[in-house]
Amino acid sequence: MRYISTRGEAPVLGFEQVLLAGLARDGGLYVPEAWPRLSAEEIRGLRGLPYAELVTRIAAAFVEGEIEESVLRALVAEAYEGFEHAAVAPLKQLGPALWLMELFHGPTLAFKDYPLQVVGRLFDRVLTARGGHVTIVGATSGDTGSAAIEGCRGRASIDVFILHPEGRVSEVQRRQMTTVQEPNVHNLAIAGSFDDCQDMVKALFKDQAFRDEASLSAVNSINWARIMVQVAYYFHAALALGAPERPVAFSVPTGNFGNVFAGYVAMQMGLPIAKLIVGSNRNDILTRFFESGAMTIETVEPSLSPSMDIQVSSNFERLLFELLGRDGAAVSRTLEGFRDSGRFSLEPALLQEALKVFQAHRCSDEESLAEVARAHRETGEVIEPHSAIGLAAARAAQESLEVPVVALATAHPAKFPDAVERAIGRRPALPARAADLYEREERVTRLPNELAAVRAHIRERLRVPGAA
Ligand SMILES: *Cc1c(COP(=O)(O)O)cnc(C)c1O
Repeated sequence: MRYISTRGEAPVLGFEQVLLAGLARDGGLYVPEAWPRLSAEEIRGLRGLPYAELVTRIAAAFVEGEIEESVLRALVAEAYEGFEHAAVAPLKQLGPALWLMELFHGPTLAFKDYPLQVVGRLFDRVLTARGGHVTIVGATSGDTGSAAIEGCRGRASIDVFILHPEGRVSEVQRRQMTTVQEPNVHNLAIAGSFDDCQDMVKALFKDQAFRDEASLSAVNSINWARIMVQVAYYFHAALALGAPERPVAFSVPTGNFGNVFAGYVAMQMGLPIAKLIVGSNRNDILTRFFESGAMTIETVEPSLSPSMDIQVSSNFERLLFELLGRDGAAVSRTLEGFRDSGRFSLEPALLQEALKVFQAHRCSDEESLAEVARAHRETGEVIEPHSAIGLAAARAAQESLEVPVVALATAHPAKFPDAVERAIGRRPALPARAADLYEREERVTRLPNELAAVRAHIRERLRVPGAA
């Protein structure tokens, strides 16, 4: 499988190089040169597979020719071994045609463990084979950071620097990052917003000299490998509900557009998905886009679903590339204009194309709390605000869809205990594996919202391959 950049000017690479590179050299994101397509017969053949085996089969189509399937199988099996539910991504029925897929049974209690437990191992495997070392730099609005840290902690071939917006992640989220004591883990608390953190990470990647000096790499959803691994749970749910004979829809609480884009990839691979529903909180740039065809930046406002407090959804670029007929130059022009003016709009015909696949729904904090309360009252399930946005969006979409809707539960309720308590009057307990989180010692460096300070901090701590 070969990969091309959404901006059309970076070298065409194989899977391993795309994994290590993260962002493409022209500032774009890597996507497969062509989507692998499964026939209905082949999709049927995936029914009933254990979760790890399904991930292996899906990923195999994207790493073809570079990582042997048996190697991949062993690595993926190990990645999901510690998950606390035998089904890994269990489905719960909440209504006649309404389902919840729980994606929070990994070590950091959010869906990002599903890709990052695999991606950390992929990095280690590829780097160990090459005798290399990378410096992973990432921005987090809360959950990416801890999942990346868990995926990379203690691995000799990787140093991981995670920027989080100081005071804007929940205490559980912060502690899951800052209480990891391995020396290859570096937490930076930035005096700014998530978008500021993300902009700095992007700028570091754009600094070619620094990028080479540090062997920079990324594990947020700009990294293709992460999307690839996430595709599997769309298959998992759809197969359980009757694919390929019966189409389903998915409702996805969305921030960077990575998770829902994995659903789009599943569709391109032939999985019958009737609709992908994008849920947003008050930071609703995506919902406004799907309503109007115009992408317009506004300031980020904190909400009860902080992992979705994002304005610029970096993975939207991958969809834009498809909508613009895979024309890298057009993507470049559009996004340069967007960077300069804070706005771009799509022609009505292209918006109509997008609306065949996507629809969007905005949910205020009050509505998300009402959904947490409703789910609890009607089904006994305790969910948190991100998942509640997915569920509320699923309910709204059900009025016009005649297929089962699967809402993705992206975090464990104990990750956002204050909001859950407000909604149902009870604090969800941390699962046993995280129960001592509040007793563990924290380690974090506070830095100003300045690129130069962040770059200098990382540079001082760089480990050169082979050095002690
Ligand atoms: C990261 C995250 C999201 C948003 O996912 P994207 O891939 O960025 O769209 C939603 N909910 C939770 C709990 C998250 O951690």
